[in-house]
Amino acid sequence: MITVTDLKKSYGSLEILKGVTATINKGEVITIIGPSGCGKSTFLRCLNRLEKPTSGTIDFEGKILNDRKTNINEVRKKMGMVFQNFNLFAHMSVLDNLCVGQTKLLKIPRAEAEKTARELLKTVGLAEKADSYPDELSGGQKQRVAIARCLSMKPDIMLFDEPTSALDPTMVGEVTAVIRHLARDGMTMMIVTHEMEFAKNVSSRIFYMDEGGIYEQGTPDEVFNAPKREKTRAFINRTKTFRYDIQSVDFDFIELTNSLLNFCTANALSRANSNKAGLLSEELAVNLIDKNDLRSIELSFPDSQEVFELTVTYDGKARDVTQGAGMEADIVRGVASEIVYGYDGVNRLCMKW
Ligand code: ADP
Ligand code: MG
Repeated sequence: MITVTDLKKSYGSLEILKGVTATINKGEVITIIGPSGCGKSTFLRCLNRLEKPTSGTIDFEGKILNDRKTNINEVRKKMGMVFQNFNLFAHMSVLDNLCVGQTKLLKIPRAEAEKTARELLKTVGLAEKADSYPDELSGGQKQRVAIARCLSMKPDIMLFDEPTSALDPTMVGEVTAVIRHLARDGMTMMIVTHEMEFAKNVSSRIFYMDEGGIYEQGTPDEVFNAPKREKTRAFINRTKTFRYDIQSVDFDFIELTNSLLNFCTANALSRANSNKAGLLSEELAVNLIDKNDLRSIELSFPDSQEVFELTVTYDGKARDVTQGAGMEADIVRGVASEIVYGYDGVNRLCMKW
């Protein structure tokens, strides 16, 4: 039902998607995995035209989406999107959040819209929250409302961009359960996720994205148990990941350190390895990188815990902050056995030990 042909997308001179070709059939559940920054969000956003592709075609039910003659609002009604940060209307009750699209865009009478809304709330387990406002809900509840709101438009396909990555770990399950339920009901979905177990058991096909395209694809069994290409293998074997996205300059450093150390404890890291992770994260986040520039911190290691990687991304001019003189840089170079630095629009610094 969707055929993507040689889709390219550049930001300025930076080419993010270098030619994505894919077919998504009705009833398929496709999860998209891959390293951060490889263009997963960009791909989804091109599909529903939140981003304008640089070239290539997207054929959705016989309509070429990136054709000027195609009415994109008609298309968006059929293609729902669920975001990491819920994007609910804060000033509207849960019920109104689920009715507004139906009445305004689909021109459905209010009474009928409300009936649909209440039924959908029941299916996501939130019938009692119809009159609540978004800020009275937990993250998991908000995301379930966002999914119900998306369903209220009766989409033919749903796109999910990391629907669980803004959630407290205890709430991930309630959202993945709802998505699994949709999968069983035959909803066509494309899901970007970092939850590998979920990807394994919900998908009919997996797209592994890297190098500006779909680097490898296959069934969950093929991609997780017998990846054919090197980067897929490296990614799949890089199983345990802690990631912290910095949302504002005033981010809570104590919370970052705490959650990093909790993650180390939960995964039974040795004290020495937890200390190294904590030390590197502190030197980078507090001392070496300007708070305004810091974007994310990610710790990952394979199940075997043979090797650890702490990756930080930061804005600002291209520079490897571990290369300067000074005690902080010395400490980092002392702890890490290897430092890999790259720039692809953001600075990406990977420290291994
Ligand atoms: P992913 O979702 O796989 O983490 P994204 O699709 O969000 O990756 O981003 C891919 C790359 O494109 C990143 O390097 C990011 O910095 C860059 N990028 C994304 N959006 C923009 C934009 N609006 N302008 C410039 N660069 C962007
Ligand atoms: Mg993304």
